[in-house]
Amino acid sequence: MRWSQTFIHTLRQDPADAEVVSHRLLVRAGFIAKVAAGIYNYLPLAARSLAKLSAIVREEMEAAGSAELIMPAVQPAELWQDSGRWTQYGPELLRIKDRHDRDFCFGPTHEEVITDIVRGTVTSYRQLPVNMYQIQTKFRDEIRPRFGLMRGREFIMKDAYSFHADPDDLDVAYRAMERAYRRVFARCGLRFTQVEADTGNIGGSESHEFMVLADTGEDAILSCTQCSYGANVEKAQTGALGTAPPWPLDRPDRPREVATPEQRTIDEVSTFLGIAPEHLIKTLVFETDKELVAVLIRGDLEVNEVKLGNALDCRHLQLASEQKILEVTGGPQGFSGPVGLAGVRLLADPSVMELAVAATGANLDQTHLVGVVPGRDFVVHQVVDLRLARDGDPCPRCAGRLVERRGIEVGHVFKLGTKYSKAMGCTFLDAEGADHPMIMGCYGLGVSRTMAAAIEQNHDDKGIVWPLPLAPYEVVLAVLNSDKEEVVRAAEELYGQLLGAGVEVLFDDRPERPGVKFNDMDLIGFPVRVVVGKRALESGEVELSLRRDGEKRTTPVGELVAAVTVLLDGLRAEVVKA
Ligand code: ATP
Ligand code: MG
Repeated sequence: MRWSQTFIHTLRQDPADAEVVSHRLLVRAGFIAKVAAGIYNYLPLAARSLAKLSAIVREEMEAAGSAELIMPAVQPAELWQDSGRWTQYGPELLRIKDRHDRDFCFGPTHEEVITDIVRGTVTSYRQLPVNMYQIQTKFRDEIRPRFGLMRGREFIMKDAYSFHADPDDLDVAYRAMERAYRRVFARCGLRFTQVEADTGNIGGSESHEFMVLADTGEDAILSCTQCSYGANVEKAQTGALGTAPPWPLDRPDRPREVATPEQRTIDEVSTFLGIAPEHLIKTLVFETDKELVAVLIRGDLEVNEVKLGNALDCRHLQLASEQKILEVTGGPQGFSGPVGLAGVRLLADPSVMELAVAATGANLDQTHLVGVVPGRDFVVHQVVDLRLARDGDPCPRCAGRLVERRGIEVGHVFKLGTKYSKAMGCTFLDAEGADHPMIMGCYGLGVSRTMAAAIEQNHDDKGIVWPLPLAPYEVVLAVLNSDKEEVVRAAEELYGQLLGAGVEVLFDDRPERPGVKFNDMDLIGFPVRVVVGKRALESGEVELSLRRDGEKRTTPVGELVAAVTVLLDGLRAEVVKA
């Protein structure tokens, strides 16, 4: 392709609304252009990268036994009423009406539509399993669309769904999908990790996320340095806590009140009383869509609100206001404690119940209690893991330690179970003629987000450094002195040779200054570049370099195709085969 025949327009300035590097570079390098908040044009360069990524995804989906279909973007409300999600989904669901005033939505995901396809057709265990995928535009009216393609409102997703007669069969498909995802991201040339993920209120039995590793990632992930354990921070467990320092005070028969004027935080109380945070019980009051609850955790630890939300089976939760805390505990914020606390559900992390003796708030202004014995001085309604894992914590599986890294969620696989099949009557007859809901899995991969994630991971201060498999063109050929006829003729000749050899090359035939061309090549990030200039040509040579290191090599004009092939083969060999 010739530059003059495609549509590539780079910008000098960063877009004002770009907070992350992929957004900045995708816009500046002419890949995307904003249409509205979270809605973008994918310009020709982006269309090429997305097509390459989609081709890899298609190959791996087919290899995993999933068949491509295309479902509609616009879905009737009736299907969502059937599953119960018309009322549950909230404002992320873009609801629309047709000319007859009938309700529709723009699909944020396709469980309803696919379940409708299968329930109408598959009736016997003999027709199972079913596994299908599509690559399609989704719409989610995200509260804060940002970061360009990373969190768009309209975006491209590959979504696959599978239907099974029993959990073992689902497991087979799930493992095949996990493998396919690992192969997709490895074939894209990305550094990624697979982690355990929270199954949330869908209540599925197993879920994994695929994270492209990048310091700018929105997600925190914890992985063990010694074994294969890895989890999203929302889900991460930890091993047993180390032994606490000895309790520094006496052990009274009953808790004793001590005055703690203006000492509210764990650090303040710990210093003031001379008691390590490991001996303090932190009491937090949360408000959910259903109730107020008090949550206990050891003073040096933090509460994981996702774990808490799961334990409470609620949709929203937040820390209670000062007023509510006063109403529930009788004392001001900063002085709450479990002793004598009635009329509210009490949840504790195991770290609290393992304490032999502790200090905590007294539910009285400016007062704490010391010598509190869990179980003796208070009981709780539920003991459940509520702890937020952090860097350096012990691994829950082995003697290793967890390290925290940042990642971008590019894929999510999920054992759904029977949530949709039960709600929507998607059942089959087994060999004995008994009716059962099908067991489902769903598998999402953010296609447009993966393109952005590739840039978050692969860029420098000049622009994008595409991993070869996702580059819009593998090679750029630039003619520097386009006013010199013999130079242009030589470049045209070389362009023809590269095309003839099947090299995927973009010919920068624009009558631009060399500085402009070099800047554009750097910004767009073609992995291999060839420069045809007057001076080198005089000695029968052209210049070659890799975007990655910029190191210049020269090659005789007659050997260009061979030299480019060697460079491309080298880059290809680096892309790990999963
Ligand atoms: P997130 O937690 O980032 O909002 P999600 O859990 O809502 O993601 P899924 O419903 O699992 O996402 O969707 C499957 C995949 O689609 C995600 O792994 C992600 O790669 C992609 N995706 C989800 N929301 C967006 C978005 N707003 N913009 C771009 N890609 C998205
Ligand atoms: Mg989301």
